[in-house]
Amino acid sequence: MNKRVLPPRHRARRWVTAKVLEIARMVGRHPFLAGITGTLTATVMAALTFQTLYAGRVEELDHAVENSRNVVTTISGDLARNVELYDLSLQAVVTGAQQPQTWRLPDALRQRVLFDRATVASFLGGAYVLDASGHVKASQTGTPNPALSLSARDYFVAQQRNPDAQLYISKPYRSMLRNGVLTVGLSRRINGADGRFDGVALLAVRIEYFQHLLDRIDVGRQGRVFVFLDDGTLLASKPTLSRGIGANYVDSPGFALMSRRASGTFTTSTKADGVERIYTYTHVANAPLIVGIAPAVDDLLANWRRRSRLAIGLTVVLGGAYVVLSWLFAFALRDKVLAEAELMRLAVTDPLTGLANRRALDRRLASEWQHAVHDEMPLSVLFIDIDHFKRFNDTYGHAAGDEVLTVVAERIASALRRSVDTVARYGGEEFAVILPGTPAGSAARIAEKVRRRVEAANVAHSDSPQGRVTVSIGCATSLPPDGGSGARLLAAADRQLYEAKAAGRNQVRTQVVSGDSVEPPLAAGHGAAT
Ligand code: GH3
Ligand code: MG
Ligand code: MG
Repeated sequence: MNKRVLPPRHRARRWVTAKVLEIARMVGRHPFLAGITGTLTATVMAALTFQTLYAGRVEELDHAVENSRNVVTTISGDLARNVELYDLSLQAVVTGAQQPQTWRLPDALRQRVLFDRATVASFLGGAYVLDASGHVKASQTGTPNPALSLSARDYFVAQQRNPDAQLYISKPYRSMLRNGVLTVGLSRRINGADGRFDGVALLAVRIEYFQHLLDRIDVGRQGRVFVFLDDGTLLASKPTLSRGIGANYVDSPGFALMSRRASGTFTTSTKADGVERIYTYTHVANAPLIVGIAPAVDDLLANWRRRSRLAIGLTVVLGGAYVVLSWLFAFALRDKVLAEAELMRLAVTDPLTGLANRRALDRRLASEWQHAVHDEMPLSVLFIDIDHFKRFNDTYGHAAGDEVLTVVAERIASALRRSVDTVARYGGEEFAVILPGTPAGSAARIAEKVRRRVEAANVAHSDSPQGRVTVSIGCATSLPPDGGSGARLLAAADRQLYEAKAAGRNQVRTQVVSGDSVEPPLAAGHGAAT
């Protein structure tokens, strides 16, 4: 035989077509699969959308933190550089002040020796040399002020107490020398020849210096940027914080977090306004300063939220519509499947008795025959006919006859226990039973059981010799069914029925059929079985 071989492309297409049909059939069998699949698909799509949105949110915040890090790095770099410059100036003042000959120079020259390098510093409020009792011994402006003692200032006390004190940055104070201008003092200790305390060199830096650093930074509507002294004193902020410049924030939880590590990021909301902010901070190198920026989460996410609302709205509306449509489809499909199933049932059901009809019987018989041949199992059939039914109709009417048909049908069906057995109305007052895997002996016993059950129903039939409704049954068994067909087996049963009728009705006749040969009946006679 010429076996055709398809090219791979065709085979693939066939395979896909077969799979699609298989899926379509499966959905047809389980209509709710369409609804469930639709719901799952919409859910997965929604989950993906939400996941993408969430990733966008994380990215937005990460980006903001990175931005913040750049800003604090820039500001702290500026501060570190400037503090270093201030310190160099201070050291020059200290060097000058520690040399006794400086103090023997003429005023103008001494001014230049002490303060020449200081004057280049920006935002400088003044440069001073204080003596050991806190009086201004020399000033950049050239006007000493011996009456005024600054010995109570924190920077003075700090330098006085600690022989090893380095650069000290004071808390902001209102300058007594310059009309109460808010000032931060950078100071260094001046030692006498023997190492004892001999005064303080002081650079007064106007507080605007710190504010000026923050001015050009955009912090959004509710954000903040600030410079703290590491003891919690606020030097500058944008916008102005509630407690004001110079106030101490050491007790605030945010400051506690910032003082612990050299740099970092954390999110917190302040009690005062309840706004959630992401704080990014760093300690300034070689200076007791902390710079931080804290944009508000709401500001950072404003654009993202606008975009997300649109995406979520579309997802919910379209996803919802998809779910609703898939369920509508599922219900419509279910109705169709149910209607088709009902039609199919009707096509194979006898309307009066509810048993399988002739068409179903023929099909079932053919398929059971195939199974029996394949499995080499015996197959039995019963042919049942109501005795003298024409007379019954004539005596009791057609409607009563119909009732008897349903009673007999019920009696036959209830005599069979296995679900594989089939009872069918063959036509008129004739019924057939298929008994797969049933040998002749068992089939005869079942036939006899059916006969007795009909008899026991005791339906009056005055025009019958029995006085009640009875049936005659022909039984045929094929063992194994290595020839012939289902129809022939049924014909054999019909012949046995004829024998039963001829022998006086209300009895069972049995025969074993092998291939085309017909063996003699197993038993005969009224009420006899095997
Ligand atoms: P036998 O004992 O030899 O079988 O005699 P019988 O009268 O039963 O057989 P016959 O074949 O002569 O008559 C069959 C009768 O069954 C004819 C008809 O009146 C009746 N019959 C067939 N179908 C129906 C039906 O659907 N309803 C009713 N009520 N009677 C039917
Ligand atoms: Mg008949
Ligand atoms: Mg009959």
